[in-house]
Amino acid sequence: MRYHDSIIDLVGNTPLVKLNKVTEGIQATVLAKVEYFNPGGSVKDRIAMRMIEAAEASGELKPGGTIVEPTSGNTGVGLAIVAQQKGYKCIFVCPDKVSTDKINVLRAYGAEVVVCPTAVAPEHPDSYYNVSDRLVRETPGAWKPDQYSNPNNPASHYHSTGPELWEQTDGRITHFVAGVGTGGTISGTGNYLKDVSKGKVQVVGADPEGSVYSGGTGRPYLVEGVGEDFWPTAYDPKVADRIVAVSDKDSFQMTRRLAKEEGLLVGGSCGMAVVAALEVAKELGPDDVVVVLLPDSGRGYLSKIFNDDWMQDYGFLEEAGDEATAGDVLQRKDALEH
Ligand code: PMP
Repeated sequence: MRYHDSIIDLVGNTPLVKLNKVTEGIQATVLAKVEYFNPGGSVKDRIAMRMIEAAEASGELKPGGTIVEPTSGNTGVGLAIVAQQKGYKCIFVCPDKVSTDKINVLRAYGAEVVVCPTAVAPEHPDSYYNVSDRLVRETPGAWKPDQYSNPNNPASHYHSTGPELWEQTDGRITHFVAGVGTGGTISGTGNYLKDVSKGKVQVVGADPEGSVYSGGTGRPYLVEGVGEDFWPTAYDPKVADRIVAVSDKDSFQMTRRLAKEEGLLVGGSCGMAVVAALEVAKELGPDDVVVVLLPDSGRGYLSKIFNDDWMQDYGFLEEAGDEATAGDVLQRKDALEH
């Protein structure tokens, strides 16, 4: 019989798929590392596994313990699945702007979700930050992974994503492109590829326009899961040879092309990373191999990126040259939300 002992044995070892249509006119080979093949549907299953196993080994997480993390997205799903299979409880804290679909996914996996009001100051006892800190203090056996500062976030990529890419490309990878959120993916994978290639592999970060990694002030943007308004310690600021800033509009238009032309229904940060990868690849020759990491699936964005009305409301379907400015976008967003 051929079977896996548990769904979590399927974390990692995701496939590499060549991009054939969006790469028209480009000589280099561009390969996508498709992370939605992970059991929780995203790259974050990798960090969930390693952060939990390291905390078990160090004794921070004991049998019957509870994982408490302020997250509503992919990291929560990864933690919920690994925790459930290993017999831990999970409590996630998220702001009330998070969609009920996302909350229901976490509850479906058996996690408890505490929803906090967005409209209170950070120092208010009901704020997102205060509630998660209080839960850690008051829950017996609580442990907070904190993906932004946990060294096992980048380490998971140093020990899995990086070696997989080196092996899958027979050591021919020349460029690695990834979006930067906590910075774990680019730092762990990038540093492994630099080490194994003796510095030859070029590492490129993709960042939403406005985020600090590409020199922005932290102003808002709509691509989810990437960009920051602070510098997390999971990010190694020395790892990237280059950072490419990408607009929301370009990110979302490419995300739709990936579904339509490559058969890859992926999230907005994937479109963003592909825009950056093509920017790099167009300057390269036929021997170059560019790998771009696609963190998650498009299923979580059906009512946004894959909804024409939503795209239209923000001006993202307009032709090039008719760009909405950040100010326009925020005004539209305000108008829609109020
Ligand atoms: N894309 C999505 C959809 C994500 O959830 C994340 C994680 N925040 C990233 C990209 C960025 O990955 P990392 O945190 O490893 O930088």
